[in-house]
Formats: sequence, C-alpha cells, structure tokens
Amino acid sequence: MAEEKKIVIRRLETAKDLGKFMAKYYYELDEASKTGKEKIAWCTSVGPAEILRGLGFLTYFPETHSAMLGTTRMATDLIPVANALGYSPEICSYLTADIGAFIEGVTPLAKVFKGIESVPKPDVLVYNTNQCRDVQDWFLWYGNKFNVPVVGVESYRNVPEVTEGHVTGIVKQLENLIEPLEKVAGRKFDMDEFKNAVKLSRECSDLWEKCLAAAASKPSPLTFFDGTTLMGPAVVGRGTQKALDVYHLLLDELNDRVEKGLGALEEEQYRIYWDGMPVWGRLSMHSKLFAGLKANVIASTYCSSWIFSALDENDPFGSMARAYTELFIVRADKFKEDYIKNKLDFFGIDGVVYHDARTCPNNTNCRYGLSQRLQEQTDIPFVTIDGDLNDLRCLSDEQTKTNIEAFIEQLEERK
Ligand code: SF4
Repeated sequence: MAEEKKIVIRRLETAKDLGKFMAKYYYELDEASKTGKEKIAWCTSVGPAEILRGLGFLTYFPETHSAMLGTTRMATDLIPVANALGYSPEICSYLTADIGAFIEGVTPLAKVFKGIESVPKPDVLVYNTNQCRDVQDWFLWYGNKFNVPVVGVESYRNVPEVTEGHVTGIVKQLENLIEPLEKVAGRKFDMDEFKNAVKLSRECSDLWEKCLAAAASKPSPLTFFDGTTLMGPAVVGRGTQKALDVYHLLLDELNDRVEKGLGALEEEQYRIYWDGMPVWGRLSMHSKLFAGLKANVIASTYCSSWIFSALDENDPFGSMARAYTELFIVRADKFKEDYIKNKLDFFGIDGVVYHDARTCPNNTNCRYGLSQRLQEQTDIPFVTIDGDLNDLRCLSDEQTKTNIEAFIEQLEERK
C-alpha cells in the first residue's frame, strides 16, 4: 500500500496559456454561430481539417465537447437519453453523451465559458471513418437535426501497410469533398490557403511530437494526464498559427524542466505507458492514484494520435490521404505491436496499462492478444483495467485501485 504522504504533482505554467487558447477558440465559434458572419464546419477529430481551412470554415470538433462532458462528469446521466432513441449503451459514449446533451439542451461550455449557452450551429458536417463508423452515424444525426449537408471520407480499416492504392482511393474522396463544400462555403477553394494549412498542421504535429518526446527524459517533465488536456490545440487548432505559438511555449517549458532535471512528479520510481483512452471523469483520481504509488504514466498511444508526420504542403492531397491512413487506429495489429514496442523502448517503460474501454473497441487494443504478445517479446508486464471514456457505470473505482496497486507491487518486486 502507498504510504500516507502528500502527493506532489507539478503543474505546467503553460497549461494556463493552453486554457486561454481553448477559451478563444470556443468564443470565436460562439460569435460566428450567433452572427452567422463565418461558416462553421463540424469535423471529426482526425478528419480533413486542412481542406476546411482552405475554404475559410471555422472548425468545431464534437469529440472535444464529448470529452468535456466526461471531465465535468455530465456524460453518465446524458447517455440514457440517447439510448432511448435507439443508440445502444454499447456504442461510443462520446456519441451517446453528446446527443443526450443536445436533446437536454445542456453543454459544459456554458459552465466553463461565461456567455456561451450552446454548441455552435453547423453549416456542414465533415467526417472521416478512419477512426470508427460511429462518427458517421453521429454526424448524420446532427445533419438531420440541423438540416445541413453531411459529407465525408469512408476509410480503410485494419491496414497492415499503407499502399499507393490506399492513398489514391482516399485522395479521390478528399478531392470529391471540394465541390459540395464550396457550395456551403459560398466561395471557391483556395489552393494556397489549403497548402498553408497543411504546412501549419505539419508544424503543429512536429511540435506536439517533440512535446510528447520530452517525457523520455528521466524524470519525465510530463504526465499522460497533463497530455490529455494539453493536446487540445493539436486537435482543434491544427492548420493554424495560433496552435504553433502555444506549443512553442509548452516545448520551452518542458525543455527547461528537462535541463533542470525537474520531473512532473516529485518521485518517479516507475515509468508507465497507457494504452487506450483516458477515463475522462477520473483524470484527477487516476493521476493521484499513480503519483501516490510513485508511478508516472508518461506516454500513451492516445496523445500521439495527433501526430501526422506524412503531411507535406508540396503534395497536399496525397500527403493528407497518407497521414490520415497511416494513423495507429487505422492499422492492423502487427503494426500496432511494433509501434507500441518502439514506444516502450524509447520512453524506458517499466509497465503497461491497457484501458479496455467498453464503448470504444476502436481505441482498445487488448482484445485480440496484443498485450500478451508484447509482454512475451519485451518482458514488460501489463495490467488491464476495465472502464470507459465517458460512461462511469462501466468502471469500478475500487477494482481499478486494487489492480493498479497490485501491479505497482509487481513492478517493485521486479526491481
Ligand atoms: S474512436 Fe471511439 S471514442 Fe472516438 S468517436 Fe469512435 S467510438 Fe467514439
């Protein structure tokens, strides 16, 4: 058992700048929604945001709203509202919580940002099924509600190697989005704006990758739990200069910590990798649970999902198609195994936590033997916790605590 001692988790100063970034982002959308002066496109979190910027849309990402429904612990009560419409409790609890919130007329934005009363109204919804089918169903529901067009890309799934055939197919679909989007935007697609967005997205991706890589230092200046909120600009701001500005600040602070040997935790004895989604309603609790056991969860598959290293302004459509198909979530298990193995090595990991998220099989990687295979290859132990991203009825806090404590004891014995 952990000894009774004050848990010290050092907060990053830059978290405030990132908070301001997110506030400005939501106020800008709210203004546009109220005045109608700028068009708004809803986009999936790994959807074709760069194309939308090439048409002057402001972009809103419902998944970040759903994560807020999770962190504010509003989600669990809202999910049954969508269940009553026939959206099963077994499907994405981002979808069910978000639709439930809309029907009930509530939003965490109103709690966090004074003056905002609702989510911004879409002029169009744009998805990419590279992450799951749920986003398509989710957006179609809203398209019907708002009576606006829904367009998207239907992607490949379980891809072992990304081939030219995959890329060509997706390029065609991306190009086919332009005409219907021009109609909604009421203007022509601007190739220079598009290329610039691809360039800025790539720079954002590179910076975010460097921020996450700082966790390889011992002690790590960063925790996974910080990362889940710090990644906001990489999701909603990619393709903009503002996201770069804020990540430059973050990287400076992380590098400063590394130079000074200052860890995010006062004591870091065990370095943990987290695979799967966070439990949004338990971020603080899980952060303290691990810190209290001198274990730092320093890296994750999830936070790295917004690294798009293939993006290249000189081949904007082709590189977008490649970047959004090369993603971890799109890939077959052999790729995933090698990917995680490299991360375990790079970050000097002692143990792996797999989150088996009930309603998101797409971000859950421990259901087809991957965790056992990786343990055999690396001799790094793992533990699985049952839970969910948003539906708190799917987890037991007691069980999680017991499992994590036993796991850290196991790591201690190995040392
Ligand atoms: S990837 Fe998972 S959490 Fe994200 S939208 Fe799809 S089902 Fe929901």
